[in-house]
Amino acid sequence: MSTADSDPTTTRSYGLTPAEVKNLGQQATAAKALSYSPYSKFRVGCALLCDDGEIVLGANIENASYPVGVCAEKAALSRACLEGQRKFLAIAVSTDITPPASPCGMCRQFIREFCDLNLPIYMWDKDGNYVVKTLEELLPMSFGPEHLKKPDSSV
Ligand SMILES: [Zn+2]
Repeated sequence: MSTADSDPTTTRSYGLTPAEVKNLGQQATAAKALSYSPYSKFRVGCALLCDDGEIVLGANIENASYPVGVCAEKAALSRACLEGQRKFLAIAVSTDITPPASPCGMCRQFIREFCDLNLPIYMWDKDGNYVVKTLEELLPMSFGPEHLKKPDSSV
């Protein structure tokens, strides 16, 4: 992502006001405090903006059996879904490194299930700088729910 920092298109607003972007970044950064990451010490915070304005937080939750751990994005989306949220306007993630880290491949697919391809994903670094990409930019030619025929459309 070294070239992304100098690309002015990476700070597009995607319909969010500067204040909304700033708030989302602050919430994602604060969510790092929720991280349970005793093994990697790699804290990740996530703030998910729902279409009703609610912001749902998540953080990475590690496990002694490493692969069992859960990423911040999956935690936030799962939490939001359990609360009945299904439409999202933006996702912000924050880490303690620079340049900003992006969601892992598994999370990109997890996000794909519930979000439009033009959903902005804001990625904040330890210094308060961010890069933003759409889901489609992070997960091109993706496979999603519209490719499967659901047995019950009410689900
Ligand atoms: Zn992940």
